[in-house]
Amino acid sequence: MSKIKKTPEGNEATEQCPICDRWNAPGACDHCEHYFGAYWDWEIINSDRMEEFDRAWRTFTDLVQDLKTPVDTVTDELVELDVLGEQRKYLLQSAADGESVSCVLRELLAFEEGSKVATEGMVSGEGVTLYLDSPSDFTSIMDDIKKLTELIKKIEAEQK
Ligand SMILES: [Zn+2]
Repeated sequence: MSKIKKTPEGNEATEQCPICDRWNAPGACDHCEHYFGAYWDWEIINSDRMEEFDRAWRTFTDLVQDLKTPVDTVTDELVELDVLGEQRKYLLQSAADGESVSCVLRELLAFEEGSKVATEGMVSGEGVTLYLDSPSDFTSIMDDIKKLTELIKKIEAEQK
């Protein structure tokens, strides 16, 4: 394959989306809607959604770790209210454990991996591009964090 591929926008493509086969140039911000970010040195980078999640996750982790009520009690309350699905349970536990954002997202989202990227020299390393088939999976995590925050604050206010 010596022929240089172009994206639909005319940029030099560096990789192809494993979901829709579009030729993408993430470096030029020219990519399909499936592009999520890059996974580099155990962290997700170059991702708007990752930054959005990062902010929400920090606030949520602070809330959970500063609870006056033990997290097990909060968990029990949420189970009793019948509002603790698998994803919410995982989010709550991960926040209590101080899991990293990249770790949580990799666990909850079914990423497809694009081609491997390697660089040499000063910032040498290796990573892969992450693609996500269903954007609503990400939205559902953001919604769950918001909902959990409301529920936990309510429980905490009642435990006096
Ligand atoms: Zn795509």
